[in-house]
Amino acid sequence: MQNSQKIEILAPAGNLPSLKAAVDHGADAVYFGFRNATNARNFEGLNFSDTEAASGIDYAHRHGVKANIVLNTYPQVEDPGIWYRSIDLAARLGADAVILANLSLLSYACQHYPELPIHLSVQASASNAAAIEFYRRHFTIQRVILPRVLTIAEIRRLKQQVGDVELEIFAFGGLCVMAEGRCHLSSYVTGVSPNIEGVCSPARAVRFVNRGEHLQTRLNGVLIAEYGPGEEAAYPTICKGRYRATDQAYHAMEEPGSLNILELLPEVITAGVRSLKIEGRQRTKSYIATVTQVMRQAVDAWYQDPQDFHPRGSWIRTLNSVSEGRSHTLGTYQEGWQ
Ligand code: SF4
Repeated sequence: MQNSQKIEILAPAGNLPSLKAAVDHGADAVYFGFRNATNARNFEGLNFSDTEAASGIDYAHRHGVKANIVLNTYPQVEDPGIWYRSIDLAARLGADAVILANLSLLSYACQHYPELPIHLSVQASASNAAAIEFYRRHFTIQRVILPRVLTIAEIRRLKQQVGDVELEIFAFGGLCVMAEGRCHLSSYVTGVSPNIEGVCSPARAVRFVNRGEHLQTRLNGVLIAEYGPGEEAAYPTICKGRYRATDQAYHAMEEPGSLNILELLPEVITAGVRSLKIEGRQRTKSYIATVTQVMRQAVDAWYQDPQDFHPRGSWIRTLNSVSEGRSHTLGTYQEGWQ
């Protein structure tokens, strides 16, 4: 059940069973996209038809959970209409918020659906008070989803500056090293922009190729990583490739670990963050259930006894078991690189 006094746990849903799993395992809110290019997880077989979206929202609402719809890619010259129609649909279906990045969509939603809360997508890369104030003034955003480039101290300071604009941060899941919404790595290799097509490594460009005892992952023919016997192959994403940069092959840009905020949960809550976002609409129902449940337990434990809160070993082990690379990081929440 949702508790407005507590920080929100916001879970991803790539399909209806995953949405139900998130609701059943303690999410306060879920987010999902339609089955087209209007959201940045446009993988084949993922996302919601109109009727599935209606069922998902109904299921969430019957359990006191909010349902946010992601429309965070950029309308294209050839057919911009689908983006605007998707906002119409989200409003008609009774979504609790639309997650937008593009100025024209923000303007459209703000003018046509003043009662529909707008959450500014991480794709808009708004990471300082002046940028957030711009979006609040012009588009009355209710919330900003912060890029994964700030420390907790900066988030705390930002909250003091942005007043009643809610802050949502990534709490768990895959890490994107670029200033969000500004990545050209995959466009360079595949010719397809994640900001337009909604996916970094489109499935049609992905190949797993056996080479003797080794397994290669390739994206549009480009070698992303080669795995020896017993090594677990990751889905090929350019930034997490293992490249031969000097005389050895290594993760030259980013290790494939998952972001995990648990160690900093007290600092996050007291900094005034409103919502903890779990990344991974492309992940399985079991991943979503597992991560949501651990986050629920951790948040509840903090509210029960903030003084005695510490992340349990079992939570960390469980989350590591579903992490990319089976490991985790605090990313920029604690580190200095930005
Ligand atoms: S390729 Fe990597 S850095 Fe670029 S958008 Fe995808 S996850 Fe982010």
